[in-house]
Amino acid sequence: MNKNLRKAVIAGNWKMNKTPAEAKELIRAIAPLVKDAGCDVVACTPFVDLQAALEAAAGTNIEIGAENCHWEKSGAFTGEISAEMLVSMGIKYVIIGHSERRQYFGETDETVQKRTRAALDAGMTVILCVGEYLEQREQGITSELVALQTKVALGGVSKEELKNIIIAYEPVWAIGTGKTATADQANEVCKLIRDVVAELYGKESADAMTVQYGGSMNAANADELLSKPDVDGGLIGGASLKAEDFAAIVKAASK
Ligand code: PEP
Repeated sequence: MNKNLRKAVIAGNWKMNKTPAEAKELIRAIAPLVKDAGCDVVACTPFVDLQAALEAAAGTNIEIGAENCHWEKSGAFTGEISAEMLVSMGIKYVIIGHSERRQYFGETDETVQKRTRAALDAGMTVILCVGEYLEQREQGITSELVALQTKVALGGVSKEELKNIIIAYEPVWAIGTGKTATADQANEVCKLIRDVVAELYGKESADAMTVQYGGSMNAANADELLSKPDVDGGLIGGASLKAEDFAAIVKAASK
């Protein structure tokens, strides 16, 4: 597998943090630090921050993404936001299936598939999250579980559409816990995801697919994680809220 065949993507997941004014401030602080990045840089923000983030990112190399979208275009879905709505305001990226959505908001592999379908239909790039709980790792079922999540989410996705999908391997036990998967553990599962993609779409598509690692990636461990052959970037939670830390990870991915 050749890492040069694909572009590294570093995406921040701001979760439920920052007001619009703070979002503007953070994007303005990040922009000069990542202007020469050798990778794609994305900041996924709460819905209410998207407009402010877009304005602050105008003319920079930072793309703005959302943290979720609904599978219907419009309708009686109180509290939800559709992919069409996001696209209409200029949003190109969306995170789907984050473990916090699965854990706290009843997201299932099936709803992840539906949301992925809707985002692709709207022309968005999806950052699709998969990953196991600690008990599942301890039971030795990480591979089966991650393969299943990947296969269900990609159900109905064509080879052409796959170009608009980034898969983020996020072991749930490493998210927001300060516990990072070792670089070898991260690489092993990222490779497994690539093998699943190869099985479904062929080697060429798998080689071209960006597979990120996410889970307490920070300025100190990014170099080692990103040096692994199957780790093509990162989905960054906590460290994406500090301009210097996020920029250091972008720098590590640009090497
Ligand atoms: C995430 O929210 O996707 C994430 C990886 O969080 P953290 O970096 O804080 O573990």
